Amino acid sequence: ATPSEGYDVVVVGGGPGGYVAAIKAAQLGLKTACVEKRGSLGGTCLNVGCIPSKAMLNNSHLYHQAQHDFKKRGIDVPEVNLNLPNMLKAKDDAVSGLTKGIEFLFKQNKVDYIKGSASFLSSTRLSVDLLDGGKTEVEAKNVVIATGSEVAPFPGGAIEIDEQQIVSSTGALDLQKVPEKMVVIGGGIIGLEMGSVWSRLGAEVTVVEFLGSIGGVGIDDEVSKQFQRLLAKQGLKFKLNTKVLSAEKRDGKVFLKAEAAKGGKEETLEADVVLVSVGRRPYTTGLNLEAAGVELDNRGRIIIDDQFTTSVKNIKCIGDVTFGPMLAHKAEEEGIAAVEFIKHGHGHVNYGAIPSVVYTHPEVAWVGQTEQDLKAAGVKYNIGKFSYSANSRAKTNLDSDGFVKFLTEQETDKILGVHIIGPNAGEQIAEGVLAMEYGASSEDVARTCHAHPTLSEAFKEAAMAAHSKPIHM
Ligand code: FAD
Ligand code: NAD
Repeated sequence: ATPSEGYDVVVVGGGPGGYVAAIKAAQLGLKTACVEKRGSLGGTCLNVGCIPSKAMLNNSHLYHQAQHDFKKRGIDVPEVNLNLPNMLKAKDDAVSGLTKGIEFLFKQNKVDYIKGSASFLSSTRLSVDLLDGGKTEVEAKNVVIATGSEVAPFPGGAIEIDEQQIVSSTGALDLQKVPEKMVVIGGGIIGLEMGSVWSRLGAEVTVVEFLGSIGGVGIDDEVSKQFQRLLAKQGLKFKLNTKVLSAEKRDGKVFLKAEAAKGGKEETLEADVVLVSVGRRPYTTGLNLEAAGVELDNRGRIIIDDQFTTSVKNIKCIGDVTFGPMLAHKAEEEGIAAVEFIKHGHGHVNYGAIPSVVYTHPEVAWVGQTEQDLKAAGVKYNIGKFSYSANSRAKTNLDSDGFVKFLTEQETDKILGVHIIGPNAGEQIAEGVLAMEYGASSEDVARTCHAHPTLSEAFKEAAMAAHSKPIHM
């Protein structure tokens, strides 16, 4: 098809929400185009988010292990050196391989990929400023908006990001030199992941967090405390209940003024590089939503109903630019469901069973409600906990920090939340998600055979602990 012929579905944005929606729409037999202005597919996640950060996390972890951990495993390496340009190249290779992979999937599924920036002319017509010059227009029976999010600037514009000395996550993924001192503003997921990377590579990292705990929204308080202890053991420093007021660049350094969150004495923090990671905000710049009549809420999010429909009947919206957690897999689920609504009139996302993972070492992962949520809601619950220090595989691997924690409804034993801090938590949480998706009880998990010796036995034993007793603790 050529763009001017008209489509059943035009998806604006080629991130995890948009590209998945486009492929699904084409698979369901709808004539589909995806407009993306970045020059490559995959959105924030593949280009400057999930994928490059995981490449840096994995390789910096291996470097750190080689330096500090190999000896006790009986591996004597005469000298371990960091080759940062090669580590950055490995990250870039991962990104380019995967973004090209999506282009291939588009071809395979017959999705038209329009490279350019889309803007509404009406609810069914978009104008596209093409990347290689010129303009085109596309007609669409249905539009799916999946324009994602952008870095939230520091409140009040007090600190300006230059991506060299004062960086967002994007600059932090591409520092050409390991900073001696790095200050991270915001102890959420980005701050802890990127702070871990540069700390492992040799930077002295201080995380300044406004709240009294780290890990961002949704983390269980007990997990957050343990998480902070383990990161502190690795050398990260924390200044909680502290707010940064301003930054000044002087003599090649950045001087930050900070004070206690509730007000108090000012102090100055010195850094070679500052990472601003205080959240992200929905991105709708240039979309000309007014021409279509699509409405935003007071936080700039596109308003949708429970079928992903915006204030305009034929326009749906998914991912970071609308409500809910800003996660790639949440955007993907919504992409599929939104297109199923277009094709079949029904679709479904279970917002009670969306996992969160922090890819530090150890990893932190959770699904469902936290203990503080349940307390606040007055729900009677049981706790089942099992420590990795009592798990044979974790001990054998010399990697046994952390625990699995089940939260179950006291009356019925139904699983209400699972929280893991420990080796491979990000993979293990999938079992918790599946259990919750099926409405399982802790006894259901406890009576399921888990292979020995695996880390997953800690998961099973935490489930045993929730309704009776574990064997190995
Ligand atoms: P995006 O990925 O932001 O994609 C939107 C796309 O739309 C962009 O490519 C943009 O160029 C394009 N666009 C915008 N406007 C227009 C227009 N007018 N015309 C054409 N194209 C347009 N999430 C996880 O689940 N796991 C992780 O490990 C993880 N790690 C992260 C690490 C970092 C450093 C960051 C910043 C984020 C991370 N995230 C992670 C979050 C994840 O990247 C987002 O939740 C996800 O990318 C959202 O997908 P999306 O499709 O809604 O939007
Ligand atoms: P976040 O909301 O997770 O954390 C921001 C943190 O900054 C919070 O703890 C907040 O209290 C703190 N903060 C805010 N203003 C502050 C200030 N002025 N001074 C000090 N602290 C301040 O946001 P993020 O870490 O920037 O991540 C953005 C989004 O990207 C999140 O929605 C996250 O889910 C997503 N993400 C996910 C992953 C993952 O899934 N592994 C990885 C990276 C990013």
